Amino acid sequence: WGGHSGSRLGLDVGGTLTKLVFFESETRPSWCNGHFAQVIKTLGIQALRSEAEGSGKDFCRQCSFWGERDRGLGFYDADLKGSFHFLCFSTDKMERFVGLLAEQDLHHQIDEIYSTGGGAYKYAKLFQEVLGITLKPVDELGVVIKGISWLLRREIAEEVCWLSEKPKKSLLEMLSEETVSECHFVDTNNLFPFILVNIGSGVSIVRVDGTDKFERISGSALGGGTFWGLCNLLCPERTDFAAAGALADSGDASKVNLLVEDIYGGDYELAGGKKLPGTLTASFFAKAGRNGGEANDADVLRALITMISQNICQIAFLNSRLHGITRIVFTGNFLRHNPVAGGVIADNMRRVSATALPGKKLEALFLLHEGYFGALGSFLQNVEGENAEIPSCQRLPAPLPTLLGKLAACSSRGKPGAIQRTWRSFGRCFRKRECGEGSGARA
Ligand code: ADP
Repeated sequence: WGGHSGSRLGLDVGGTLTKLVFFESETRPSWCNGHFAQVIKTLGIQALRSEAEGSGKDFCRQCSFWGERDRGLGFYDADLKGSFHFLCFSTDKMERFVGLLAEQDLHHQIDEIYSTGGGAYKYAKLFQEVLGITLKPVDELGVVIKGISWLLRREIAEEVCWLSEKPKKSLLEMLSEETVSECHFVDTNNLFPFILVNIGSGVSIVRVDGTDKFERISGSALGGGTFWGLCNLLCPERTDFAAAGALADSGDASKVNLLVEDIYGGDYELAGGKKLPGTLTASFFAKAGRNGGEANDADVLRALITMISQNICQIAFLNSRLHGITRIVFTGNFLRHNPVAGGVIADNMRRVSATALPGKKLEALFLLHEGYFGALGSFLQNVEGENAEIPSCQRLPAPLPTLLGKLAACSSRGKPGAIQRTWRSFGRCFRKRECGEGSGARA
């Protein structure tokens, strides 16, 4: 498909973050790989360079303030002959983004862009007045599911994973209620039916039976936005989401949470012989500020993330029981740079699965492109808006499940970005995420 640069974009303007997908074609008009592509791909990095200059602050950490290119998520698509790029920035910066498009003359020939998220309505006037572009809103859940189904059919090696419990080694780990998880990729191009739990600013829970067959069944206003708001309130120095997520990883939630052992002095044996472990949380934040106990930011952040993740997990679990569906897929940017959240959800799901649903094992699955499915789906909508067909290839069998096998498979296909993808996958297994751009900008 040719058309204009708008048909190479996908935009999801959320309550907190704006997500942008850009497809850089090797074969189509010059804006695909010329000035347009350059500006879009360096979004955030450029702006941050000037912001970071003189401030002496760590460049990488500053990235999330204005915008980030999620380099590790980009991939080359051999069928489409081009690369997908994934960027996000704070929705508060929308005027600045629109200003950048105008300044750099990127809006020419674009009349309309299909976009999703509340901002497709909220910022319609701004886009129209400054750029002459009509934002055409598309249903959020529809495009998220469209994006997921489409991506799973692409020939990308790893997207879906589950998190296992890491064997506890140290005494500290043995005592801690939360466990450290390792990720394992699942080779699948079909997840239906599943319960989708999208954790953005708020939480949407959707029963998905097929690409065009889904229904919103539940939700919660206790979501990623709640965490981020409370984080700003309780730990005002933690202004960077990724850094807050990493800090939480080193925290000890029991400094503020009231545990079963704080009440019973140890494990508590229930009437039927089952045990409530002493390390189980009885009440979140019930110990905060009491007994002169000192909790630092890491402890508070860990407790906050755990509280929100467990609550979401419980609602998801109850809905999965109501609907008799055992596969639960978690997406949304709350999970981005947030190792504690994924671990807590996986661990909790394992626990409820073992105790509450004998014989019916629940599967908590995570998708690597976490918060980008809405943007990806609206990209697909932009392509279809031109009455063009975008190929939906079938994935090839997964490469060998070993590190060497993965590296060999990637390099033999010669795809740019394949090695980075593999690194990212392994990085994630070890609960670290690359933060980005080369040339020293992002490690
Ligand atoms: P929405 O579409 O509602 O903006 P997202 O899926 O983009 O939802 O998730 C937003 C949530 O992601 C935030 O509430 C926060 O918990 C988390 N988040 C991840 N990265 C950032 C960031 N750089 N800045 C702020 N919040 C972030």
